[in-house]
Amino acid sequence: MTEKDYSGATTSKIGKNAKTTSSSKQEMSSNKPKNQPAKLNSAGNIDINKQDNDEKYENYIKAGKIASKVKEFSRTIVKPNTKLSEIAEKIESKIVELGGEVAFPVNLSIDDIAAHYTPTLRDETLATGLLNVDIGVHVNGCICDIALSFDLTPDKKYSKLIEASEKALKEALEYVKQNKEKSKISEIGKTINNSISKLGFSPIVNLSGHSLDEFTIHAGLTIPNYDNSSNKELGEGAFAIEPFATLSTGSGIIYEAAGGTIYHLTNPDQQVRDNFAREVLEYIFENKKTLPFSQRELEKKFGIRAIVAISNLKRAGIIEEFPQLIEKSHQPVSQAETSLIIHDGQVEILCE
Ligand code: MN
Ligand code: MN
Repeated sequence: MTEKDYSGATTSKIGKNAKTTSSSKQEMSSNKPKNQPAKLNSAGNIDINKQDNDEKYENYIKAGKIASKVKEFSRTIVKPNTKLSEIAEKIESKIVELGGEVAFPVNLSIDDIAAHYTPTLRDETLATGLLNVDIGVHVNGCICDIALSFDLTPDKKYSKLIEASEKALKEALEYVKQNKEKSKISEIGKTINNSISKLGFSPIVNLSGHSLDEFTIHAGLTIPNYDNSSNKELGEGAFAIEPFATLSTGSGIIYEAAGGTIYHLTNPDQQVRDNFAREVLEYIFENKKTLPFSQRELEKKFGIRAIVAISNLKRAGIIEEFPQLIEKSHQPVSQAETSLIIHDGQVEILCE
């Protein structure tokens, strides 16, 4: 998924909330290997932080390997006129089959929809035009967020536009490989903007990459797709870089619209009167925490009644829909994304 240039992050607040009201975060990571040898630091003492960090690092690497396989798998099933619901189900099943968990519903966004659309169970929409496939895999909360675009037109009219976002990503990664934790976010943005503009296209300036944290897709740091003249550096951690490109005749900005059917828990302590809505809320809380989920998933679990529960939970202010992100002049938008970690002064690209 991507981040609109909101002024404040929404997930960090609720992350804290969820932690204090339940032990579920620990439960979710309880399948961590417990019998790993403790690491010793240079003084010969057991270094718990290092052990934790090493374990996290391994989880990111594992999530990246699964994401790479799922990306290749997507190339075999994304064909013109296949139902989006079929593609989404197959990709999400593949993540689980390979030992990962779905970090967010697969985004399948067509043409001027840049991101944040996922089909419902009975969605008849077919794959056509320019299709952005955005995939999230997590292993014990360590997320790999990747995306690629498919040109499904008979005359391949979007191949250059896709090349533009892919090339921008590649050049941004080169910059980060060179500069590691000292990489400036404004330089990443500048690299992306220059790369896309050189090919005659425009970046989407109000969509950005982001830092990643355990069970948190948008962890606070925004990585722009233009030079925002910030002096901020990446530092150590996990990050997603994601250039979006549109035609030079496009606005280069997106607006938000309802109806993408991707939600997240924003206020778990709020009361809801309806028993069934409470049951659905319990499921979301236990299985998703603050990670995004889809109407499709709830429909599979609870049947068509899930739609009523969703609207009750929405009305009670407990869950929120992620708005779809649509190009303002309705020009097609391509996306390329990968995640990386900077750890011990080394850059690891999780999925290439
Ligand atoms: Mn993404
Ligand atoms: Mn992302």
